[in-house]
Amino acid sequence: MQKEIEITIAPEDAGSEEEIIKQLSIALKIVLSQIRGYKILKRSIDARSRRVIFRMQVNVFIDEPQVADVFTLNYQNVADKKRVIIVGAGPAGLFAALQCIENGMKPIVLERGKDVKQRRRDLALINKEGIVNTESNYCYGEGGAGTYSDGKLYTRSNKRGDINKVLQIFVQHGATDDILVDARPHIGTNKLPHIITAIRETILNAGGEVHFGQKVTDFLIESGKIKGVVVNDEEKLDAEAVILATGHSARDIYTLLNKKGILVEAKPFALGVRIEHPQEIIDAAQYHCAVRSEFLPPAYYSLVEQVGSRGVFSFCMCPGGIIAPCATYENEIVVNGWSPSKRNNPFANSGTVVQVTLEDVPGDDPLRMMNFQSEIEKTAFALGGGNLVAPGQRMVDFVEGRVSADLPRNSYLPGTRSVMLKETLPDFIASSLKSALPVFGKKMKGYYTNEAILVGVESRSSSPVRIPRDRETFQHPEVAGLYPCAEGAGYAGGIVSAAIDGVNCANAVLKFN
Ligand SMILES: Cc1cc2nc3c(=O)[nH]c(=O)nc-3n(C[C@H](O)[C@H](O)[C@H](O)COP(=O)(O)OP(=O)(O)OC[C@H]3O[C@@H](n4cnc5c(N)ncnc54)[C@H](O)[C@@H]3O)c2cc1C
Repeated sequence: MQKEIEITIAPEDAGSEEEIIKQLSIALKIVLSQIRGYKILKRSIDARSRRVIFRMQVNVFIDEPQVADVFTLNYQNVADKKRVIIVGAGPAGLFAALQCIENGMKPIVLERGKDVKQRRRDLALINKEGIVNTESNYCYGEGGAGTYSDGKLYTRSNKRGDINKVLQIFVQHGATDDILVDARPHIGTNKLPHIITAIRETILNAGGEVHFGQKVTDFLIESGKIKGVVVNDEEKLDAEAVILATGHSARDIYTLLNKKGILVEAKPFALGVRIEHPQEIIDAAQYHCAVRSEFLPPAYYSLVEQVGSRGVFSFCMCPGGIIAPCATYENEIVVNGWSPSKRNNPFANSGTVVQVTLEDVPGDDPLRMMNFQSEIEKTAFALGGGNLVAPGQRMVDFVEGRVSADLPRNSYLPGTRSVMLKETLPDFIASSLKSALPVFGKKMKGYYTNEAILVGVESRSSSPVRIPRDRETFQHPEVAGLYPCAEGAGYAGGIVSAAIDGVNCANAVLKFN
């Protein structure tokens, strides 16, 4: 017999099989020897009361042997099958490619950036010298913005597709199977590059193609149908289906589509700052303790507050993380965050952003939200004084309107400069943040403190442009065979939801092309 049951267990016992089996036998009122095996289905930390516990949903094998689950996808060879061009090798592009193979189609992935290994050198240049390679950076290159990201795999997109399959594919390519059970699964920046490389190898072994340094610079369209793409302004590639998975930073793609008269629309997004605290402040607040137990991971938080008609919220929270310089153009500052798999840096950061509505940026230019975003990033660069030095301010100083005499030690490697952040943030954003931060402090003890730094600007939260598509066929309403995909098209946010959208686009190609 098999039985599903929830148990709670102390953090220090959560890694002990013996203790788990003991708790299962107590909960099921059976003797230890009857438990022939168990499988943890979900694991979460419950820190609501003073005694922090782990909750585990477990499938128990009682008086019958445990059967191991096996998940392996065997990819068929598609070398001589129908070609599908996929623009962008981010999570969406790579999962679209894998799904094309499953569907018996040959994916040809075109990526403007470099492979993960070579990309690492450009990231070192960004961090050490403040120099941005506009084709190879934290957003561009193999694996897209997902490779040197935090690798948090939590998503609410469960209605859009099979989250478990995406996670299983990550495991098949080298992620630990903890991600299948943890309530907040996380891979870590140090592990992602190997996983992305393994996914590329699967695509190549199945007869697909992945090309780097291949920037799509034009679309070939005849009588409202896609016929192919132009690469690097010279080479033409024919195809009857093009999945456009270029991410939300590819302003040249939005500009190109708009210039060609292909419908794109302004889209609301969110903008603000990255906030960093010493991790011990967050641990103390969330785990109700002076010092975090060695059996608990660095603590996480999620905060939201409505200020008038506007939402202010934290997102992409990175316990034990680093603030990353994520600009894609010269002379702009964009920040984001990542953490290694062990989350063992002394700081906790999160994007803390304010909703920006279409009414905030009046006009009818479909690119106006994008231009608004770009202007703020340029102002932040100027305010930092160059070389990717980011403008910063202590939290209470920002709210009370004074320049910080100095800035706390922080994780942003190119350096921070003390400024009045309201000089780079539009009034409605600065004032919403000023209202929300003390309220966050009431929700989470210790949060509202001058030991925290605000670093500007967190501007690439989601796409400021939508590339529309038909609900059923996923094709652009004006260009048959063009499949706007994932975050760049405004249909996903985050690694897993982008991957799911890639899968959905590949399925739409199979069905409708
Ligand atoms: C530092 C950082 C940390 C993050 N942490 C997390 C996290 O923990 N969890 C999470 O869920 N999300 C995180 N994100 C967000 C996540 O990475 C994105 O949501 C996700 O990568 C979007 O996937 P995508 O495939 O739609 O686009 P992208 O990942 O942006 O990929 C698009 C790809 O298209 C390529 N491209 C663009 N234009 C062209 C062109 N003209 N021709 C050819 N190629 C082109 C780009 O080079 C890029 O590789 C993070 C992002 C960053 C930057």
